[in-house]
Parts: sequence; C-alpha cells; structure tokens
Amino acid sequence: MNRKDFLTKLGAGAAGMAALSSMPAKLHSMTQGRRWNSRDYTWISSHTDDDDEARRRLEKIKRAGLNGILPSGNYEYWVRMAGEFDLDVHAWFITLQRGSDNYLIENHPELFMVNRNGDSSIDKPAYVGYYKWLCPTRPEAKEYLMNRIDQIMELPEIKSIHLDYIRYPDVILPIQLQPTYDIVQDREYPEYDYCYCDACRSKFRDLHGEDPMDLEKPEDHEAWNRFRYNQVTHLVNQIAVSVRNRGKKVTAAVFPTPDIARSLVRQNWPDWNLDAFFPMIYNHFYHKPISWVGDAVAECRREMPATTALYCGLYVPEMTAIEVSQAYEYAMENGAAGITIFPDHTMSEEHWNYLSATMVKG
Ligand SMILES: [Zn+2]
Repeated sequence: MNRKDFLTKLGAGAAGMAALSSMPAKLHSMTQGRRWNSRDYTWISSHTDDDDEARRRLEKIKRAGLNGILPSGNYEYWVRMAGEFDLDVHAWFITLQRGSDNYLIENHPELFMVNRNGDSSIDKPAYVGYYKWLCPTRPEAKEYLMNRIDQIMELPEIKSIHLDYIRYPDVILPIQLQPTYDIVQDREYPEYDYCYCDACRSKFRDLHGEDPMDLEKPEDHEAWNRFRYNQVTHLVNQIAVSVRNRGKKVTAAVFPTPDIARSLVRQNWPDWNLDAFFPMIYNHFYHKPISWVGDAVAECRREMPATTALYCGLYVPEMTAIEVSQAYEYAMENGAAGITIFPDHTMSEEHWNYLSATMVKG
C-alpha cells in the first residue's frame, strides 16, 4: 500500500469513527456488547443485597486485575454495583438444569428429560434433588429458554450471555465426586442415562429406524451418542444466532476437555458456534495435579478454532494460594486468554495477593 492509499484508508476510518459517535443512542446500546475487553473473570455464585459487602468483593476483584464478573442472577443489581468499578458484567445463565424453575416443573413436566428406566428427572432426579433437566429436543423447551435469554438481554449493560449446565446430566460423575454419592460408576447405568423421552425416541427412530430404548449397548452406539451431542449443539447454535442478533456475545462454561465433556455429560462443545469457552478445569475433581491444568488447556486448544478465546476455569475451594497462581501460569502458557475464578468469595487475601502478583508478571 502506498502512502496515499494509506491516508485515504485512514480518512475513511476516522469518518467511520465520527459516524459511530453520532450514532443514535438505541443503536449504540445495541452494539455495546460487541466490545470484548474482559480477560480475567470470576463467577459470582453467592449473592448479597448489602451494597458495602458487594463493594468490598468487587474492589478485591478489580484490584487483583480481573475485569469481568459473571453473576448467576440478580443481574440488574450486579450491573449497578460493577459500574462503580468499571467491571464488565456477563450474565451467567443456568440453561437446561431447571431444578428451581417451579413454573416449568408444575406446568410443563412433559418437557423434562427421562432416563433409560423411563423415569422423569422431575420424579427421580439423579444425585441431588435439583437435577431436573429440560430436554433440548423439545421445541417448546428451546423457545422457553430463548425467551428467558431475551429478557436478560433487555439490560443493555450485559456484555454477553454465558451458558452453563448446557449438557445432559452426568452419566458418569467425575471420579472425586463418586464417593460423595456412595456410587461406583464403572459404566453407564440406566438411572443416570438420559434422554429417553418420547420426543427423543421418536426423532431418533425417524432418523435411524431404531428405538433407543431397544439398544443393547447404548453406550457403544455411535449414532445414539452423536444424536445426543447434536441436540445440545443445535440448541446452543440457535441461542448464539439470537444473542448475536441483539449485539451481544455468547459463551459457555463447559467440561474440562472435549473427551471428558463428551463421555461424562454428552457435551461436544468444539462444535458450538460461540465467542469463547470457559472450560472448568477443576483438576482435583479428576484426581489430577496442578500441571494438568496446562495439559487440559492444550487439549482444548487442539480441538478449538484458533480464533476462539479460552478462559480457564479454576475451582478455588480446593486450591492453595500458590496453586491458583501456578494454575494461572500453566493455563496461559498453553493458550488460555485468561482465567475464571470459581467463586470470588472463596478467595482469601493470600489467594488474591498471589494471583495478582502472578498476573502482573505474566
Ligand atoms: Zn428427550
């Protein structure tokens, strides 16, 4: 490019900027979520309506060098408080697990997942009482979730929709959690194996000529496994289109590596059309050392598009302060764009100090 062309281009750029600044307010608010400044985050799972407590927490987050928060609810409240600290707010949205959604449970039990014993996740939830899950194959379930997300996006300050529990119930729990429920999951057992509702059975039968209930070894049936990956993928990609149409970004919390995600919760997330992934690389859940954080990030990166960001999720309640800073280094070294702390209120003063010192160094 010669100098004249360069100046012409520069001029066009400046004109573009001028046009942007005179953009009508409504249009400007629609494009707000397009800016993606956050790099390091924390999930906020413990809520408060005490402004001073919220400020104390947000100040620690900001001072450590994090710049995005992902509250699991009370979005309006967190938007207002985070504004004081110039922190981006991303709406953490619990998607298919609807254990506390009394409206749906009472009015639309037919939209919930059914296990291989034929039991609804409403009547016999696996592991814990709240494991009541919407079936992604049901168009009404999709529509319901899209409406909920539309409501959240009414808040112009929300930068992105962050999908969580966007998967099937764990057909196999991470190894560390199995003793908690006094079970050994050496293979896929029917009470944890979903979804065999009428909608799934008839859609699969139409596509493949078999009723999944009749499969002798469903865990080894490639088409049946792929079918279930696809049900979640279709939902995610549909949500992604709708969120982007509103000028926001869309991301998800996912299981730590693509292989673990597919085999434990039927989540084939490398196929999802998202702006960023937040894999929950909780090494203790899998009896792995801290260095595995780096291995897992590298494994994720191998299946992810090169241009999609990865923010490495860390489970702080089981980590020492030194481990959090080591995990940060392992993650960044292997291609993470940043980290996400779970959750902010379990970080001690020592944790924050170690982490911010490491982030400054990096
Ligand atoms: Zn189903």
